Amino acid sequence: MSARIIDGKALSRQLRQNFRRHAEHLKQQGIVPGLAVVLVGDNPASRVYVNNKIKACEECGVHSSTHSLPADTREADLLQRIEALNADDTVHGILVQLPLPAHIDMRRVLEAIDVNKDVDGFHLYNVGALATGNTIFPPCTPYGVQLLLETAGIDVAGQNVVIVGASNIVGKPMALMLLQKEATVTVCHARTRDLAQHTILADILIVAAGRPNLIVPQMVRRGVVVIDVGINRLADGRIVGDVDFEGVSEKAAWITPVPGGVGPMTVTMLIDNTLRSATRLAGEGEGIGSLGWDAPTLHPPHP
Ligand code: NAP
Repeated sequence: MSARIIDGKALSRQLRQNFRRHAEHLKQQGIVPGLAVVLVGDNPASRVYVNNKIKACEECGVHSSTHSLPADTREADLLQRIEALNADDTVHGILVQLPLPAHIDMRRVLEAIDVNKDVDGFHLYNVGALATGNTIFPPCTPYGVQLLLETAGIDVAGQNVVIVGASNIVGKPMALMLLQKEATVTVCHARTRDLAQHTILADILIVAAGRPNLIVPQMVRRGVVVIDVGINRLADGRIVGDVDFEGVSEKAAWITPVPGGVGPMTVTMLIDNTLRSATRLAGEGEGIGSLGWDAPTLHPPHP
Protein backbone atom coordinates (compact mmCIF):
# COMPACT_ATOMS: atom_id res chain seq x y z
CA MET A 1 0.00 0.00 0.00
CA SER A 2 1.18 3.50 -0.68
CA ALA A 3 -0.19 6.01 1.79
CA ARG A 4 -2.37 8.96 0.87
CA ILE A 5 -0.80 12.27 1.79
CA ILE A 6 -2.46 14.58 4.29
CA ASP A 7 -1.39 17.88 2.79
CA GLY A 8 -1.07 20.53 5.49
CA LYS A 9 0.29 23.09 3.08
CA ALA A 10 -2.75 22.89 0.81
CA LEU A 11 -5.19 22.95 3.73
CA SER A 12 -3.36 25.94 5.22
CA ARG A 13 -3.62 27.79 1.93
CA GLN A 14 -7.38 27.21 1.80
CA LEU A 15 -7.88 28.20 5.43
CA ARG A 16 -5.85 31.36 5.04
CA GLN A 17 -8.01 32.47 2.10
CA ASN A 18 -11.01 31.84 4.31
CA PHE A 19 -9.42 33.78 7.17
CA ARG A 20 -8.74 36.71 4.88
CA ARG A 21 -12.43 36.93 4.12
CA HIS A 22 -13.22 36.72 7.82
CA ALA A 23 -10.75 39.52 8.59
CA GLU A 24 -12.39 41.65 5.87
CA HIS A 25 -15.79 40.95 7.43
CA LEU A 26 -14.51 42.13 10.82
CA LYS A 27 -12.95 45.23 9.27
CA GLN A 28 -16.31 46.15 7.74
CA GLN A 29 -17.60 46.22 11.31
CA GLY A 30 -14.77 48.53 12.34
CA ILE A 31 -12.61 45.82 13.96
CA VAL A 32 -9.06 45.31 12.75
CA PRO A 33 -7.91 41.95 14.15
CA GLY A 34 -4.50 42.38 15.79
CA LEU A 35 -1.76 40.07 17.02
CA ALA A 36 1.15 41.24 19.22
CA VAL A 37 4.27 39.09 19.17
CA VAL A 38 6.80 39.54 21.95
CA LEU A 39 10.35 38.38 21.28
CA VAL A 40 13.01 38.53 23.98
CA GLY A 41 16.62 38.13 22.87
CA ASP A 42 18.04 37.24 19.48
CA ASN A 43 17.68 33.47 19.11
CA PRO A 44 17.89 33.02 15.28
CA ALA A 45 15.35 30.15 15.24
CA SER A 46 12.88 32.24 17.25
CA ARG A 47 13.37 35.12 14.82
CA VAL A 48 12.49 32.80 11.90
CA TYR A 49 9.36 31.56 13.70
CA VAL A 50 8.29 35.13 14.49
CA ASN A 51 8.83 36.20 10.88
CA ASN A 52 6.67 33.29 9.68
CA LYS A 53 3.89 34.37 12.01
CA ILE A 54 4.10 37.99 10.86
CA LYS A 55 4.00 36.85 7.23
CA ALA A 56 0.92 34.73 7.90
CA CYS A 57 -0.78 37.72 9.52
CA GLU A 58 -0.08 39.83 6.42
CA GLU A 59 -1.43 37.08 4.18
CA CYS A 60 -4.68 36.92 6.18
CA GLY A 61 -5.24 40.66 6.66
CA VAL A 62 -4.47 40.53 10.39
CA HIS A 63 -2.55 43.48 11.83
CA SER A 64 0.61 42.44 13.65
CA SER A 65 3.12 44.21 15.87
CA THR A 66 6.45 42.79 16.97
CA HIS A 67 7.86 43.78 20.35
CA SER A 68 11.55 42.90 20.26
CA LEU A 69 13.23 43.23 23.64
CA PRO A 70 16.91 42.73 24.46
CA ALA A 71 18.08 39.41 25.97
CA ASP A 72 18.84 41.08 29.32
CA THR A 73 15.31 42.47 29.71
CA ARG A 74 14.20 42.29 33.35
CA GLU A 75 11.24 40.03 34.07
CA ALA A 76 9.38 42.99 35.63
CA ASP A 77 9.78 45.00 32.42
CA LEU A 78 8.50 42.12 30.32
CA LEU A 79 5.49 41.74 32.62
CA GLN A 80 4.83 45.46 32.31
CA ARG A 81 4.89 45.18 28.52
CA ILE A 82 2.38 42.35 28.67
CA GLU A 83 0.13 44.36 30.98
CA ALA A 84 0.16 47.18 28.42
CA LEU A 85 -0.78 44.76 25.63
CA ASN A 86 -3.55 43.27 27.81
CA ALA A 87 -5.01 46.74 28.16
CA ASP A 88 -4.68 47.63 24.47
CA ASP A 89 -8.06 47.21 22.74
CA THR A 90 -6.43 46.98 19.31
CA VAL A 91 -4.62 43.78 20.37
CA HIS A 92 -6.72 40.61 20.23
CA GLY A 93 -3.94 38.06 20.57
CA ILE A 94 -0.66 38.11 22.51
CA LEU A 95 2.09 35.62 21.83
CA VAL A 96 5.34 35.43 23.74
CA GLN A 97 7.86 33.57 21.61
CA LEU A 98 9.51 30.72 23.55
CA PRO A 99 12.07 29.92 24.79
CA LEU A 100 12.64 32.89 27.06
CA PRO A 101 16.09 33.71 28.49
CA ALA A 102 16.91 31.59 31.57
CA HIS A 103 16.59 34.48 34.06
CA ILE A 104 12.89 34.90 33.23
CA ASP A 105 10.21 32.70 34.81
CA MET A 106 8.30 31.45 31.76
CA ARG A 107 5.23 30.34 33.74
CA ARG A 108 4.84 33.73 35.40
CA VAL A 109 5.06 35.43 32.01
CA LEU A 110 2.55 33.11 30.33
CA GLU A 111 0.13 33.56 33.20
CA ALA A 112 0.37 37.35 32.94
CA ILE A 113 -1.27 37.20 29.50
CA ASP A 114 -5.00 37.96 29.59
CA VAL A 115 -6.67 34.54 29.06
CA ASN A 116 -8.97 36.19 26.53
CA LYS A 117 -5.93 37.07 24.40
CA ASP A 118 -3.92 33.89 25.00
CA VAL A 119 -3.91 32.75 21.36
CA ASP A 120 -1.06 30.29 21.92
CA GLY A 121 -3.21 28.52 24.52
CA PHE A 122 -0.38 28.26 27.05
CA HIS A 123 -1.99 30.15 29.96
CA LEU A 124 -2.74 27.89 32.91
CA TYR A 125 -6.49 28.49 32.45
CA ASN A 126 -6.42 27.31 28.85
CA VAL A 127 -4.16 24.37 29.69
CA GLY A 128 -6.42 23.29 32.57
CA ALA A 129 -9.61 23.84 30.59
CA LEU A 130 -8.39 21.33 28.00
CA ALA A 131 -9.10 18.65 30.61
CA THR A 132 -12.76 19.59 30.71
CA GLY A 133 -13.12 20.42 27.04
CA ASN A 134 -13.92 24.11 27.38
CA THR A 135 -10.66 25.81 26.59
CA ILE A 136 -10.93 29.22 24.91
CA PHE A 137 -7.89 28.79 22.68
CA PRO A 138 -6.67 25.29 21.80
CA PRO A 139 -2.86 25.20 21.48
CA CYS A 140 -1.94 25.67 17.85
CA THR A 141 -0.03 22.48 16.99
CA PRO A 142 -2.52 19.93 18.40
CA TYR A 143 -5.36 22.08 17.05
CA GLY A 144 -3.77 21.87 13.59
CA VAL A 145 -3.37 18.09 13.89
CA GLN A 146 -7.00 17.71 14.89
CA LEU A 147 -8.09 19.75 11.88
CA LEU A 148 -5.86 17.73 9.52
CA LEU A 149 -7.49 14.51 10.75
CA GLU A 150 -10.96 15.95 10.49
CA THR A 151 -10.56 17.30 6.97
CA ALA A 152 -9.10 13.97 5.82
CA GLY A 153 -12.38 12.45 7.06
CA ILE A 154 -10.71 10.47 9.84
CA ASP A 155 -13.01 10.07 12.81
CA VAL A 156 -11.01 9.52 15.99
CA ALA A 157 -13.90 8.29 18.15
CA GLY A 158 -13.19 4.79 19.41
CA GLN A 159 -9.83 4.65 17.62
CA ASN A 160 -6.58 3.63 19.30
CA VAL A 161 -4.50 6.78 19.14
CA VAL A 162 -0.88 6.48 20.21
CA ILE A 163 1.03 9.71 20.82
CA VAL A 164 4.82 9.53 20.98
CA GLY A 165 6.02 12.56 22.94
CA ALA A 166 4.52 14.04 26.08
CA SER A 167 5.57 17.70 25.98
CA ASN A 168 3.39 20.47 27.35
CA ILE A 169 2.99 22.07 23.92
CA VAL A 170 2.26 18.99 21.78
CA GLY A 171 1.86 15.53 23.33
CA LYS A 172 -0.10 16.31 26.49
CA PRO A 173 -2.63 18.78 25.02
CA MET A 174 -3.02 16.51 21.99
CA ALA A 175 -3.94 13.63 24.30
CA LEU A 176 -6.57 15.68 26.13
CA MET A 177 -8.09 17.01 22.91
CA LEU A 178 -8.40 13.53 21.41
CA LEU A 179 -9.78 12.06 24.62
CA GLN A 180 -12.44 14.73 24.42
CA LYS A 181 -13.23 13.42 20.93
CA GLU A 182 -13.66 9.91 22.41
CA ALA A 183 -10.43 8.36 21.16
CA THR A 184 -8.63 5.76 23.26
CA VAL A 185 -5.34 7.51 23.89
CA THR A 186 -1.91 6.15 24.85
CA VAL A 187 0.93 8.60 25.51
CA CYS A 188 4.53 7.39 25.18
CA HIS A 189 7.70 9.26 26.15
CA ALA A 190 11.43 8.73 26.49
CA ARG A 191 10.99 6.43 29.51
CA THR A 192 8.40 4.22 27.78
CA ARG A 193 9.64 0.61 27.65
CA ASP A 194 9.40 -1.11 24.28
CA LEU A 195 7.92 1.74 22.24
CA ALA A 196 7.04 -0.58 19.35
CA GLN A 197 4.74 -2.62 21.57
CA HIS A 198 2.53 0.48 21.81
CA THR A 199 2.93 1.94 18.32
CA ILE A 200 2.00 -1.35 16.64
CA LEU A 201 -1.49 -1.09 18.20
CA ALA A 202 -2.15 2.38 16.83
CA ASP A 203 -4.97 3.09 14.41
CA ILE A 204 -3.68 6.65 14.49
CA LEU A 205 -0.06 7.38 15.39
CA ILE A 206 1.00 10.92 16.26
CA VAL A 207 4.74 11.41 16.68
CA ALA A 208 6.26 14.49 18.36
CA ALA A 209 9.57 13.42 19.87
CA GLY A 210 12.16 15.36 17.85
CA ARG A 211 14.07 12.16 16.90
CA PRO A 212 14.64 11.47 13.19
CA ASN A 213 13.74 7.92 12.10
CA LEU A 214 12.27 7.04 15.49
CA ILE A 215 9.36 5.29 13.80
CA VAL A 216 10.27 2.60 11.26
CA PRO A 217 7.90 0.33 9.27
CA GLN A 218 8.07 -2.67 11.59
CA MET A 219 6.66 -0.48 14.41
CA VAL A 220 3.32 0.21 12.67
CA ARG A 221 0.44 -1.89 11.46
CA ARG A 222 -0.87 -1.86 7.92
CA GLY A 223 -3.51 0.85 7.35
CA VAL A 224 -2.34 3.14 10.16
CA VAL A 225 -2.82 6.92 9.96
CA VAL A 226 0.49 8.68 10.72
CA ILE A 227 0.83 12.29 11.79
CA ASP A 228 4.47 13.34 11.99
CA VAL A 229 4.88 16.48 14.09
CA GLY A 230 8.67 16.24 14.34
CA ILE A 231 10.94 18.78 12.68
CA ASN A 232 14.61 17.80 12.59
CA ARG A 233 17.42 19.38 10.63
CA LEU A 234 19.94 16.78 9.49
CA ALA A 235 23.69 17.41 9.11
CA ASP A 236 23.23 17.72 5.33
CA GLY A 237 20.67 20.50 5.87
CA ARG A 238 17.57 18.43 5.03
CA ILE A 239 14.48 18.84 7.20
CA VAL A 240 12.86 15.55 8.21
CA GLY A 241 10.25 14.41 10.71
CA ASP A 242 10.43 11.64 13.30
CA VAL A 243 9.06 8.98 10.95
CA ASP A 244 10.86 7.03 8.22
CA PHE A 245 8.55 8.54 5.61
CA GLU A 246 9.50 6.30 2.66
CA GLY A 247 9.29 3.05 4.61
CA VAL A 248 6.20 3.81 6.68
CA SER A 249 4.31 5.16 3.63
CA GLU A 250 4.36 1.61 2.25
CA LYS A 251 2.20 0.41 5.15
CA ALA A 252 0.20 3.47 6.19
CA ALA A 253 -3.19 4.47 4.81
CA TRP A 254 -2.52 8.17 5.42
CA ILE A 255 0.62 10.11 6.32
CA THR A 256 1.70 13.73 6.73
CA PRO A 257 4.90 14.81 4.98
CA VAL A 258 7.68 16.85 6.61
CA PRO A 259 7.88 19.61 5.56
CA GLY A 260 4.38 20.44 4.38
CA GLY A 261 2.28 18.57 6.96
CA VAL A 262 1.76 19.81 10.50
CA GLY A 263 4.22 22.73 10.31
CA PRO A 264 2.16 25.12 8.15
CA MET A 265 -0.95 24.26 10.16
CA THR A 266 0.57 25.44 13.44
CA VAL A 267 0.96 29.01 12.20
CA THR A 268 -2.41 28.90 10.46
CA MET A 269 -4.16 27.91 13.69
CA LEU A 270 -2.52 30.88 15.42
CA ILE A 271 -4.33 33.13 12.93
CA ASP A 272 -7.53 31.17 13.54
CA ASN A 273 -7.23 31.77 17.29
CA THR A 274 -6.51 35.48 16.73
CA LEU A 275 -9.61 35.88 14.55
CA ARG A 276 -11.69 33.97 17.11
CA SER A 277 -10.41 36.34 19.76
CA ALA A 278 -11.19 39.45 17.70
CA THR A 279 -14.68 38.08 17.06
CA ARG A 280 -15.25 37.37 20.75
CA LEU A 281 -13.86 40.66 21.98
CA ALA A 282 -16.06 42.40 19.42
CA GLY A 283 -19.00 41.19 21.48
CA GLU A 284 -20.00 38.04 19.66
CA GLY A 285 -18.96 36.05 22.77
CA GLU A 286 -19.14 37.12 26.37
CA GLY A 287 -15.98 35.76 27.94
CA ILE A 288 -14.82 32.52 29.46
CA GLY A 289 -17.33 29.74 28.99
CA SER A 290 -19.72 31.74 26.82
CA LEU A 291 -18.18 31.69 23.41
CA GLY A 292 -20.03 32.38 20.23
CA TRP A 293 -19.29 28.77 19.28
CA ASP A 294 -18.44 25.56 21.06
CA ALA A 295 -14.85 25.39 22.22
CA PRO A 296 -12.62 23.88 21.18
CA THR A 297 -14.26 23.94 17.81
CA LEU A 298 -12.57 22.98 14.60
CA HIS A 299 -14.74 25.08 12.40
CA PRO A 300 -15.22 28.52 13.84
CA PRO A 301 -17.66 30.48 11.76
CA HIS A 302 -15.50 32.22 9.18
CA PRO A 303 -18.03 33.76 6.81
P1 NAP B 1 10.15 18.23 23.58
O1 NAP B 1 9.62 19.24 24.53
O2 NAP B 1 11.61 17.98 23.49
O3 NAP B 1 9.44 16.84 23.93
C1 NAP B 1 9.77 15.67 23.27
C2 NAP B 1 8.95 14.53 23.84
O4 NAP B 1 9.34 13.34 23.15
C3 NAP B 1 9.21 14.29 25.32
O5 NAP B 1 7.98 13.95 25.96
C4 NAP B 1 10.18 13.10 25.33
O6 NAP B 1 10.02 12.26 26.45
C5 NAP B 1 9.72 12.35 24.09
N1 NAP B 1 10.78 11.53 23.51
C6 NAP B 1 12.04 11.89 23.22
N2 NAP B 1 12.73 10.83 22.73
C7 NAP B 1 11.89 9.80 22.73
C8 NAP B 1 12.01 8.44 22.36
N3 NAP B 1 13.17 7.94 21.91
N4 NAP B 1 10.93 7.65 22.50
C9 NAP B 1 9.77 8.13 22.96
N5 NAP B 1 9.59 9.42 23.31
C10 NAP B 1 10.64 10.23 23.20
O7 NAP B 1 9.69 18.52 22.12
P2 NAP B 1 8.37 19.25 21.50
O8 NAP B 1 8.51 20.70 21.70
O9 NAP B 1 7.14 18.56 21.91
O10 NAP B 1 8.63 18.94 19.95
C11 NAP B 1 8.72 17.64 19.47
C12 NAP B 1 9.07 17.68 18.00
O11 NAP B 1 8.02 18.32 17.32
C13 NAP B 1 10.32 18.49 17.66
O12 NAP B 1 10.93 17.92 16.53
C14 NAP B 1 9.78 19.86 17.32
O13 NAP B 1 10.62 20.56 16.44
C15 NAP B 1 8.51 19.46 16.64
N6 NAP B 1 7.47 20.48 16.70
C16 NAP B 1 6.86 20.75 15.53
C17 NAP B 1 5.82 21.65 15.51
C18 NAP B 1 5.15 21.91 14.22
O14 NAP B 1 4.52 22.91 14.07
N7 NAP B 1 5.23 20.97 13.27
C19 NAP B 1 5.42 22.33 16.68
C20 NAP B 1 6.06 22.01 17.87
C21 NAP B 1 7.08 21.07 17.87
P3 NAP B 1 10.29 12.76 27.96
O15 NAP B 1 9.07 13.57 28.31
O16 NAP B 1 10.35 11.48 28.73
O17 NAP B 1 11.57 13.53 27.91
